[in-house]
Amino acid sequence: MRSLLFLFLIIGSVLLTFSAWADSLSVTSIAPGVYVHFGKQEDAFPFNRGDIANLGFIVGDNSVAVIDTGSSPYLGDQLKRAVRSVTNLPIRYVINTHVHPDHVLGDVSFVGTDTVFVGNARLSAALQARGPYYMNALPRTVGEDDAKGAQVIAPTLSVQDETTLDLGGRKIVLKSWPTAHTDNDLTVWDAATQTLFASDLLFVNRIPVLDGNLSGWLSDLEGMAAIPAKLVVPGHGPLVTEWPQGLSDQRRYLTVLRDDVRAVIAHHGTMEQAMDSACLGEKDKWLLFGLYNRRNVSAAFAELEWE
Ligand SMILES: [Zn+2]
Repeated sequence: MRSLLFLFLIIGSVLLTFSAWADSLSVTSIAPGVYVHFGKQEDAFPFNRGDIANLGFIVGDNSVAVIDTGSSPYLGDQLKRAVRSVTNLPIRYVINTHVHPDHVLGDVSFVGTDTVFVGNARLSAALQARGPYYMNALPRTVGEDDAKGAQVIAPTLSVQDETTLDLGGRKIVLKSWPTAHTDNDLTVWDAATQTLFASDLLFVNRIPVLDGNLSGWLSDLEGMAAIPAKLVVPGHGPLVTEWPQGLSDQRRYLTVLRDDVRAVIAHHGTMEQAMDSACLGEKDKWLLFGLYNRRNVSAAFAELEWE
């Protein structure tokens, strides 16, 4: 009888290990109670299941806050299982760092009676404007199966400037920033471990994507540099352990972008000329440069020609 029980225990633990491997995202504990899933440095496609953004969660004494939920309900489910592999505490808060679909379209997996969805005060309007397009494109970007059941979830708690959430013995500070990567960027600060979730205000190794305001982004970077962070989780890219040095590559790219585009405008050049010439010295320094640099130049041109 005892050996039978032993056999069941072995089979059970093998099954558990297998299902944990098969059904949850890999997460790294970067500091006590702070977990991150690092997405791939790629654009979203069905072959990578849209697993391209960094997602995380912070565990307090009585609740959990999830920070971004991935590109699809599939990834949201996987992230939820990753949380459950660590703790059974309620997931009280789902924080969306900004509107982009690789950060919010797993939200539906976390809908529950007590779940509070949190975002920048401008997130709600951005989701309303962009949501239908994101939903329409989703089967193409992550595949039909992974897209099933996707929904845009409106925030139920808006952060105008700063809001502190108490997870039980652990306070996290949410800050909404002036328009930069988007008009609804929000960062999360875990004071206990001096960890900053920088959202897409920080890209590491992967070229930053400008969908907000270039001058605003450069000025937000100065505010971020002043944060006494020991660890910084970018929206895309590896963990940063030297701060503020960890933002200097991105500051350089955005500065070159601004200066090159300004120079073309000063010489009465066209947007097309700017797109062909700006930031070419940055080409070999960034992943996905070919996909996004011209787009960034056109966004910067539209902003800076009215300076
Ligand atoms: Zn983004």
